[in-house]
Amino acid sequence: MQCSIDSYDFSGKKAIVRVDFNVPLNDKFEITDDTRIRAAMPTLKKVLAGGGSLIIMSHLGRPKGVTEKFSLKHILAHVSELLGVQVAFAEDCQKAAAQVAELKPGQALLLENLRFYAEEEGKPRGLAEDATDEEKKAAKAAVKESQKEFVKTLASYADCYINDAFGTAHRAHASTALIAKYFPNDKMFGYLMEGEIKAIDNVLKNASHPFTAIIGGSKVSSKLAVLESMLERVDNLIIGGGMGYTFLKAQGGHIGNSLHEDDLMPAALDILAKAKEKGVNIYLSVQTLVADDFSADAHTQLVPSNEIPDGWEGVDAGQKSLDIWKEVIMNSKTVLWNGPVGVFEIPAFAKGTLQIARDLAEATEKGAYTLVGGGDSVAAVTQMGFADKVSYVSTGGGAMLEALEGKELPGIAAIKE
Ligand code: AMP
Repeated sequence: MQCSIDSYDFSGKKAIVRVDFNVPLNDKFEITDDTRIRAAMPTLKKVLAGGGSLIIMSHLGRPKGVTEKFSLKHILAHVSELLGVQVAFAEDCQKAAAQVAELKPGQALLLENLRFYAEEEGKPRGLAEDATDEEKKAAKAAVKESQKEFVKTLASYADCYINDAFGTAHRAHASTALIAKYFPNDKMFGYLMEGEIKAIDNVLKNASHPFTAIIGGSKVSSKLAVLESMLERVDNLIIGGGMGYTFLKAQGGHIGNSLHEDDLMPAALDILAKAKEKGVNIYLSVQTLVADDFSADAHTQLVPSNEIPDGWEGVDAGQKSLDIWKEVIMNSKTVLWNGPVGVFEIPAFAKGTLQIARDLAEATEKGAYTLVGGGDSVAAVTQMGFADKVSYVSTGGGAMLEALEGKELPGIAAIKE
C-alpha cells in the first residue's frame, strides 16, 4: 500500500530515501550544477521536520567498482549545507548498520555510491570479453542472487522507504524498485517524484485539447516509440530537429547532407500514414537553415526543407517553420516538448530551439499546460531563463522518454503495487 509523504508520521522513524545526486563534477571534484541535489531538498527536509532521521542513498556516474572519482563524499559538504544539518557519511553502503543505529531524529546519513556494488544494477561485472553465453548466464544468475542480500541490508536500515529519484525511475535497480517490497505499508514517493508523475498524467491521461507534441532531437530511432505513443494522444505533432530529415527524405524530399536514417524511412512513412488515419496533423519543417559545415563559422542559408542542396546540411528550423509551429502551439491547451529542433549547442544554430522555448512560455501565460521533458530541451528553457515560465520542467531524460512512450516505470510501479 502506497503512503503519502504529506500525511506520513515520520516522528522517531528512520527513512531511507533514494535520491538522484548524480551531479556533474569538475576535475577538482567540485559540483558544477547542483540542480538535482536541490530538487530533492523538499523531501529530505520534510522527513527531518517531521521528527524523522534520514538515510540518503544515490548513485554517481557509472563506476565499475569502488572508484575515488565517483565517491559521494565529494558532495557531502554541499548536501549538508543545503539541508542545514551536518550529514554523516557511510563509506560502504552495505556496512552502515552501526552508523544507522546511532541516528537520532533530525540527523542524516549519506551512503556511499550504490553503484560501487554490481548488485545495485544487478548486472555482472568483470566478465572476460570472450566469455561464453553459458559464463554470461552464470555470472548474471550469481549477481541476481547476491542482489537479494544487498537489497535486504539496505532495507534493514529503515522503517520507511521514499523514492524521490525520478532520473532512475525507469531502472529496476535494487534501490529504485526492488527495495520497495520490504516496506509494504511504509513506502511512498517524494515530492519530486510526485511532481513528475502528476506532470506525466497531465499529458498522458488528463490532457486538455488541442494537445500538441513537439518532438525533436537527432534520430528517429531513439524517439520512434514516443512518436507512436503520441499518435494515440495528440491533435498535432510537430517533428523537428535532425529526425525531421528522415521524414522529408522518405516523402521524396532532397535533404542534401542532412542527418537521416535510411532504414527508418519505412517507419517514418508508417507514422505519416497512421497520423492521417487518426486525424493527427503532422507539421514537418517547411524551411531549414542549412550550413556547409557543422561549425560555428560555417556559411549558412535558408532553403525549403525538401530542397536542400548537396554539400549542405540542415542545422536549424527556418523562420517560416517557426511561424507555422508557433501558431499551432498558441492554439493548444496542452503542449509537450521533447528534443531540440536544431543543433542548439552551437549558438548560430540555436535560434529555432530558443524560439520554441519562448513560444511555450507564451502559451503557458495564455493558460496552456506545458511540459518540457528531456535533457536538451530542458537546457534550452533554462538557458533562456524560461524554466519557471512553463508549467513543468522534468528532471529525468530517459525516465521521461520511457514514460511518454506509455511504459510503466519500475520505480513508480514498485511504490504503487
Ligand atoms: P536527442 O538526444 O535525440 O534529443 O537529440 C539531441 C541532439 O539532437 C542535440 O545534440 C542536437 O544537436 C541534435 N540535433 C538537433 N537537430 C539536429 C540537426 N538538424 N542535425 C544534427 N543534429 C541535430
